[in-house]
Amino acid sequence: MSALKVPGPTNPGEELLAGAIQQLDSAAKALGLDPGMHRFLRSNERALIVSVPVMMDDGTLEVFTGYRVQHSTGRGPGKGGIRFHPSVSLEEVSGLAMLMTWKCAVTDLPLGGAKGGVAVDPRKYSRRELERLTKRYTVAILPIIGPEQDIPAPDVNTDAQTMAWIVDTVTMMTGKHSPEVVTGKPVDLGGSRGRHEATGRGVAFVTLELLRKMGKPIEGVRVAVQGFGNVGSFAALALAQAGCRIVGISDVSGGYAVPAGIDIGAAMEHTKRNPQRTLEGLAGATRISNGELLAMDVDVLIPAALEAQITAENASSIRAKIVVEGANGPVTADADRMLADRGVTVVPDILANAGGVVVSYFEWVQSRAQFYWELDEVERRLEIYMRRAMESVLAKAKTYDSTYREAAFILAVERVARAIEQRGIFP
Ligand code: NAD
Repeated sequence: MSALKVPGPTNPGEELLAGAIQQLDSAAKALGLDPGMHRFLRSNERALIVSVPVMMDDGTLEVFTGYRVQHSTGRGPGKGGIRFHPSVSLEEVSGLAMLMTWKCAVTDLPLGGAKGGVAVDPRKYSRRELERLTKRYTVAILPIIGPEQDIPAPDVNTDAQTMAWIVDTVTMMTGKHSPEVVTGKPVDLGGSRGRHEATGRGVAFVTLELLRKMGKPIEGVRVAVQGFGNVGSFAALALAQAGCRIVGISDVSGGYAVPAGIDIGAAMEHTKRNPQRTLEGLAGATRISNGELLAMDVDVLIPAALEAQITAENASSIRAKIVVEGANGPVTADADRMLADRGVTVVPDILANAGGVVVSYFEWVQSRAQFYWELDEVERRLEIYMRRAMESVLAKAKTYDSTYREAAFILAVERVARAIEQRGIFP
């Protein structure tokens, strides 16, 4: 493919791709990257667009468009999720694949970056239709995926069941049991223990490492967490277990504050029992708005819900000294600059929420060896990877006198470029 152009922000996918390319451009400038290498890293290594015909339950035929993009395999096979969403486009998948390259490189995984998806609204289709869609899409992208080429995983609207269908398809097509072709599988089918909690626990590990490096005692550090789903709840639990005081949490039902600290285990139980699966009705907490949660007087704020939550409009109300991006892109570029000017430390998403891909890597290793680790082994190794990544980013920030976001991109781009240089451009 030719080099990707920076497009104008006309659809969310184009905006996302433009943002990813701009971050690469800044890192390339700071590194004085060779212009040819820079152009190479601005391009997808490979992009496949496929037509996915699916027989509906009523006998009619529908045709969907699917994508699989490998941005870089310089450091190893591509790694990245597959999403089912109406907004999926080549631009969106390309931007997300590029971010996967940097995420894998920041955490020093021997993997490159990839992403895939099908433009479909899965809520409109039956389980059997989605199974046929997944299996046909898998066959269509089979020429370029595989445990030594590109390893998909779940993303928006796909899950362990989707991964099980992919394993079945590859196994049927090759005649070989192939759990190592994807990660995020059900544990019965070779999924890793600890994968479910991994992103949230990774968020906690980088937060604790940063606090240690800043010389702040962990005990009693006040934390607010926006979003109490997979990432937010496990991040809050791990930080509470380490001695932090979680004084505010929120979800789609609103915010909940307890100055003395929230019992996170009890709050998780509450969401499980609540038919809405929300924090609504949490006992002993003061109700606050989502805006009030973000502006709480805390040491650490963890946005772990949606993108673009801290914007130019509310950045000046943030009182936390440290913001750790549990979600993808929760701080907009304008807000990022405003926080930096005010001396607020932001731990960027490509570092903070990389725990999921780190344990995905562990799953790939385990599936290839057909030998599965105990949970404590997964946890121990996850902590090592996250702490080391945080340390490396802190060191780069010092060398380049940069923000942690800039440092994470500089570190990642440098690692990928170095691997490609060492291999030499083929032939
Ligand atoms: P989830 O669906 O499990 O949880 C999302 C939470 O956000 C829910 O508690 C929901 O109620 C809450 N929420 C929704 N709208 C809100 C609002 N307006 N205000 C406050 N809370 C709101 O999702 P998740 O898996 O925890 O993912 C959260 C973010 O982390 C997403 O940006 C996702 O892309 C990113 N992420 C997730 C993983 C992972 O492994 N799950 C990995 C990397 C990044």
